[in-house]
Amino acid sequence: MKLSRVVARAGKLSRPFRVTNGRRFRLTDVDPGDALDFGGKDKSRAVEELAQQVEALSQLQERLYAQDRWALLAVIQAMDAAGKDGAIKHVMSGVNPQGCQVFSFKVPNSEELDHDYLWRCVRCLPERGRIGIFNRSYYEEVLVVRVHPELLERQKLPAAVRGRNLFQERFEDIRHFEHHLARNGTAICKFFLHMSKEEQKKRFLARLEEPEKQWKFSAVDVRERRYWNQYMHAYEDAIRSTATAHAPWYVVPADHKWFTRLVVSSAIIDTLAGLDLRYPEPPPSAKRELQAAKEELMKRRT
Ligand code: ATP
Ligand code: MG
Repeated sequence: MKLSRVVARAGKLSRPFRVTNGRRFRLTDVDPGDALDFGGKDKSRAVEELAQQVEALSQLQERLYAQDRWALLAVIQAMDAAGKDGAIKHVMSGVNPQGCQVFSFKVPNSEELDHDYLWRCVRCLPERGRIGIFNRSYYEEVLVVRVHPELLERQKLPAAVRGRNLFQERFEDIRHFEHHLARNGTAICKFFLHMSKEEQKKRFLARLEEPEKQWKFSAVDVRERRYWNQYMHAYEDAIRSTATAHAPWYVVPADHKWFTRLVVSSAIIDTLAGLDLRYPEPPPSAKRELQAAKEELMKRRT
């Protein structure tokens, strides 16, 4: 399929889930079981479309790399078992590994805790010409840390900067940080894979029952379910406070994994297509050199 058609379709599939103005957003606006016109069952058609998108993404990434001006940062956030890893694996399956970097952010270690909370993420930002994926990110600082404020104790913050508005201040810092990145040529898209609590229960049970999935099971994850409502509130507030035109959130229905992957891939394609990527034109002097090199090669028999 022609790139322009895949791009147009990617816009249609991703924009219904894009939030560019946080103030109007409510989490209840998005149904985790939504699958647009796929009707919830039409998996094979979605898989076919994803294959076309993987091809399109590979073409766009080559241009991004050759042009070497823009970078793309994709931030992926979700509750456990919402399908972050699978989405990254499938969506990026066709891109040249040289042009793509994936970083996972876990509980901060002692070196990381000796710095401000953005530090470890800043070190991993994508270079120009690359796609960088953050599997979790600085958003954990307004999500898990908000749900478990005792985590702040480990952060060694001086008492004078640990005011009552700490999380509001973090939102402000994140907005400024993302604005700074955007102004310097990093396109940003942020994903919340929005899964229902019932679906998470099903997936945890599957992890317990199927031997190949047991390695993924963690008792801690099950305990976190007790805080589900607090997490949802933290997610909603984070999205409301940080969704902007230059760093939009995509709140992606995540009860059907095949649909989640299609929307994530669509959003990345839509973002890249908005950058007007093109192969650099060689300057006239280089054109003359290319012509001379060609003539030189043609002149000789071997
Ligand atoms: P998976 O479970 O699919 O392998 P994951 O991203 O859940 O992937 P884990 O190692 O299970 O990886 O979990 C990482 C944990 O680190 C999460 O519980 C997350 O909330 C926590 N985490 C990440 N960043 C921070 C942070 N800044 N402060 C405290 N906890 C954090
Ligand atoms: Mg986990």
